[in-house]
Amino acid sequence: MSEVLSTPKKTENLVEVHQLKKYFPVQKSFLDQFLAGRVDYVRAVDGVSFTIRRGEAFGLAGESGSGKSTIGRLVIGLEKPTAGQVLFDGIDLASLDAESLRRLRARMQVIFQDPMASLNPRMSLGEAVMAGLKIHFPESADSHRETAMKVMERVGLTPPQFFFNKFPHQISGGQRQRVVIARALVTHPELVLADEPIAMADVSVRALLLDLMVQLKREYNLTYLFITHDLATAKYICDRIGILYLGKLVEVGELREVYAHPLHPYTQALMAAVPVPNPHERRTMPMPEGEIPNPIHPPSGCRFHPRCPYARAECSTVEPEQRELRPGHWVACHFAEQFMG
Ligand code: SF4
Repeated sequence: MSEVLSTPKKTENLVEVHQLKKYFPVQKSFLDQFLAGRVDYVRAVDGVSFTIRRGEAFGLAGESGSGKSTIGRLVIGLEKPTAGQVLFDGIDLASLDAESLRRLRARMQVIFQDPMASLNPRMSLGEAVMAGLKIHFPESADSHRETAMKVMERVGLTPPQFFFNKFPHQISGGQRQRVVIARALVTHPELVLADEPIAMADVSVRALLLDLMVQLKREYNLTYLFITHDLATAKYICDRIGILYLGKLVEVGELREVYAHPLHPYTQALMAAVPVPNPHERRTMPMPEGEIPNPIHPPSGCRFHPRCPYARAECSTVEPEQRELRPGHWVACHFAEQFMG
């Protein structure tokens, strides 16, 4: 098993996700549960399938509550699915015991949204960057410091000696995010889950961080699962994109294709909400009104129907299947043909 975990098999798809579901039980008092006579579940992810090709940046985009961060945690094995399957390089994560999963994780790393929360305030930056090396490569302890310094320098923490013994509160937010990126890269992972990686960074450094992530992807031959609520950010970095709504994928395709020909009304609305420099540029559709519905009792049929301006009777009763309407471009909408240019 150890050989399987440490030696990439080079499958075409680094990640395959099949009919993934994650339901969280709603916390209730014993009395409330007794009176209700049942356990309610938040259907955070409800039957999602996609692949991530080796070397690509695959984006998952949607509003808060769409399930994108939960999918990210499922893909790297931080959560166990309620149903469905995640394959990493052909290995079914559910088939691994805790120790095997821990070793496989050397090949996948995470960049979380909030660097302050994901860094230990009592651990120096150098120690934080070396932490993954200590866990996954204890046999090469002599070179950990040098390896960490090199990565810190590469992500722009220069000179690395200046930063090595500092603590998270002594540096800026942008520098903290660079530390988190260095910590993710130091084990030379294949997959990086980037969960809203620039959302908390100052506007002035966001473009620099994105630029850095694009360069590092090339240099380190990385595959990204890039999670964002912001389609403008996704456009900068992603090769393909999946649009999520209330735990379901509603549209998937090459990023350029989906941006040029959005077929699902929800994607069209998200795209219309992206700020554009030209105030005279026409919007095709306003962002739908109302909140994303309750994931404990999602709407029947198409989950978007209560907010969709094109909804018809069928939409509230029949769930739309994913259909490939243009090459490599899949959409789950009964009437998407009508939105094709
Ligand atoms: Fe709108 Fe109906 Fe298409 Fe759903 S299936 S997006 S409700 S038109």
